[in-house]
Amino acid sequence: MQMEISAAVASFNVLKDMVLGAKELADNNKFVTAVTETMSKLMLAQTSALGALEKQQAQAVKIGHLEAEITKLKAWNAQLQRYELAEFATGVFAYRLKESMSNGEPAHWICSQCFQDSKIGFLNYMHAVGTNKRFGCVICHHEYKTSDGDDDAEDSIMFAPNYG
Ligand SMILES: [Zn+2]
Repeated sequence: MQMEISAAVASFNVLKDMVLGAKELADNNKFVTAVTETMSKLMLAQTSALGALEKQQAQAVKIGHLEAEITKLKAWNAQLQRYELAEFATGVFAYRLKESMSNGEPAHWICSQCFQDSKIGFLNYMHAVGTNKRFGCVICHHEYKTSDGDDDAEDSIMFAPNYG
């Protein structure tokens, strides 16, 4: 764009010199050619300026999106600090709220899959099948079981967050 503006300015200066030096005006064709050339260069500079303005506006929109993304990532990073991966039940992992980061919220678990997708998917109690409790993610609906259903003593139920 700088080149187009410089060319337009140079062309305008030629035209100005011709107007100021009245003897050049005697050649009407020369004057019309100079005016036409100046107009052409001014239009080129204007087109270039508009293109630069469009680019600047597109960049401003992109910066706005990136700033929103940074805000979102900062908020998620703050959430990340509040949870830790732990064994929900034997061989079943989920994220639990750290006691030290609870800020008065009740103890709860978060779906590990949703957590990986930067979402807080609370695990809510759904129902029990015998002694096995089932919890479901409120977002992806994945079901978490507290045991595999054989009532084996090794299937320790840990659904209440154990901060020990
Ligand atoms: Zn989920």
